[in-house]
Amino acid sequence: GDRAVRVTGVGKGELGELAAAFNTMSQRLEDTERQRKEMVSDIAHELRTPLGNITGWLEATQDGIAKPDPELIAMLLREAFQLEHIVNDLQDLAQADAGTLRLYPGPVDAADLVEQVTAAHRTQAEEKGVSLRADAAGPLELVADPTRLHQALSNLVSNAVRYTPEGGRVTVHTRQEGEHVLFEVADTGVGISAEDLPHVFDRFWRAEKSRSRSTGGSGLGLAITRQLVRAQGGTVSVTSEPGRGSTFRILMPVGPDFLSE
Ligand code: ADP
Repeated sequence: GDRAVRVTGVGKGELGELAAAFNTMSQRLEDTERQRKEMVSDIAHELRTPLGNITGWLEATQDGIAKPDPELIAMLLREAFQLEHIVNDLQDLAQADAGTLRLYPGPVDAADLVEQVTAAHRTQAEEKGVSLRADAAGPLELVADPTRLHQALSNLVSNAVRYTPEGGRVTVHTRQEGEHVLFEVADTGVGISAEDLPHVFDRFWRAEKSRSRSTGGSGLGLAITRQLVRAQGGTVSVTSEPGRGSTFRILMPVGPDFLSE
């Protein structure tokens, strides 16, 4: 029942052009509708896992199978945080899509930001046995929303640590490039195949390997990073060599060109 309506047999001329335009429009609506359905199904899927864990353990506790000890509470809290995280991510994405994401721009020192983001992931890296290093010399000022830029960079660093096996290295680097400031997150991790590379910024997309592995992601991180960077007039890109590592780059304008929009 989802087939789009098609106008056929009207021949050439103005009517033909009108029919072609109608058919293009109809095809676009059909694509949008399919994407919307996929998105809703992906959201439901992502929420189901933590929610299922919470209800499962609460039921087990009610039935006396599990004890309501601090360990259980800690686990329930972790699952609730994961739910909260996904919902926040979805809201950020929805607002970015609608152009209603509020930005609070101000002066940001890129080198400071890199220090802060690496410091925030130090424990995560140490626990995994991955070396995490900031390679930035300030001051290197730009105008941006510090919280949103932190969030964008943080997603890249978190991924770099998660997709790098023990003994590997993650380096976060920043430098000026003309009218832009470049942030680079390089890892010596699993890498991304050429086939997968065009999809990494898609919503809910995860490489087959990361799906089966318990890396604890929802496939929204990079989509959000891209939206947050774009909203501030910047761009994100990636290069990767499977088995050797990946480098993600954020290129931000130094000046506040996005303020006038
Ligand atoms: P996730 O929550 O799954 O990490 P992301 O949107 O952050 O979602 O990333 C999407 C997918 O891109 C990941 O599941 C993983 O397959 C791949 N990916 C992202 N960052 C890296 C990286 N640094 N090295 C290898 N693969 C990566």
